[in-house]
Amino acid sequence: MIKVGLSAPDITQKEIDMVLDVMKSRFLAMGPKIDEFEKSVKSFMGRKHAVAVNSGTSGLHLAIKSMGIKEGDEVITTPFSFIASSNCILYEKAKPVFVDIDPLTLNIDVNKIEDRITDKTKAILPVHVFGQAVNMDTIERLSNKYNLFIIEDACEAIGGEWKGKKVGTRSHASVLAFYPNKQVTTGEGGVILTDDSKIDELCRSMRNQGRSNGNIKLAYERLGYNYRMDELSAALGIGQMERIEEILQKREAIASAYSLRLKGIGGVSIPYVAPEVTMSWFVYVVKVDEGIDRTAVMEYLLSKGIQCRSYFSPIHLQPFYRDLFGFKPGDFPITERVAKSTIALPFHNTLSCNEIDYVVENLKRGIDMGVSR
Ligand SMILES: *Cc1c(COP(=O)(O)O)cnc(C)c1O
Repeated sequence: MIKVGLSAPDITQKEIDMVLDVMKSRFLAMGPKIDEFEKSVKSFMGRKHAVAVNSGTSGLHLAIKSMGIKEGDEVITTPFSFIASSNCILYEKAKPVFVDIDPLTLNIDVNKIEDRITDKTKAILPVHVFGQAVNMDTIERLSNKYNLFIIEDACEAIGGEWKGKKVGTRSHASVLAFYPNKQVTTGEGGVILTDDSKIDELCRSMRNQGRSNGNIKLAYERLGYNYRMDELSAALGIGQMERIEEILQKREAIASAYSLRLKGIGGVSIPYVAPEVTMSWFVYVVKVDEGIDRTAVMEYLLSKGIQCRSYFSPIHLQPFYRDLFGFKPGDFPITERVAKSTIALPFHNTLSCNEIDYVVENLKRGIDMGVSR
């Protein structure tokens, strides 16, 4: 039986050699590679500052902290995301205020944000879900009107665009992530991007135990962490960033191949892409129609060796969020309805046409079975 994995990193021999070179050097940490990696990300993104850290989650935490967000403050965000985009708010004891999503783009419904702004609101934290850009025009307008910070969680959307402008460039800080299932990987890793030199300095200091950046007297100016990226990860990142356009194109081609085969098939809808958006494909997520037993479809795919996932499980319904805030089913109905219908299909740069055909064929059969149950 064929086995088709959900994700797989795409790493060249050249990139392996780049990591080996670091291993043969004396600098496994705090060496020259981290600067080089930051420069390459910064220039790709067109922002003034880039701070590399050891995960996207660390990056989000430092971004929140650098803005002075603290207990009693509120941050507006989406319940349909990977949990890190909300947990980073809890780390500083601030409160995530969820706003339901747009059922097509699966991103925060920007038209519902203004109603949730209070005296306590300090920031808006949109997530560019599955690589689809959020409408930043509206968020920027609200930020200006109410004097709010914007933190973009661009961890799933490197290289994506909204009206020709790169995702992650229209905020006080944005965060990218480089876990092995992301478009570009460093193993574990993340980067904070900003045009604000104060945010840059604070994040640099806090990733390194709170040391002053001058570093002459080894003075610890503030509470910090060890969120540093190591040199091996940075070296892999440098190699990956050299190929980013090629990587994004490969993913676009695979997404198109899926969509071509799945268009017009009953019972399932292909990912929606808004007209203003250039996708950076992170995952390929289909939605099954109401009335189809998604569990049955997924079980069928798994029985055929095809890995799949039900991204995302709503954040507000996670046990500790329910305990902390009293959330219950029905609080964010669109998020909950969408979350019950999604299936992430195998999606990575090295997926072959045969594998795509195999997945599509079995998805069709799975849906027929899901209907007849
Ligand atoms: C991947 C991801 C992150 C960061 O994850 P790490 O594993 O900490 O790098 C944050 N937010 C979203 C939406 C993500 O998908």
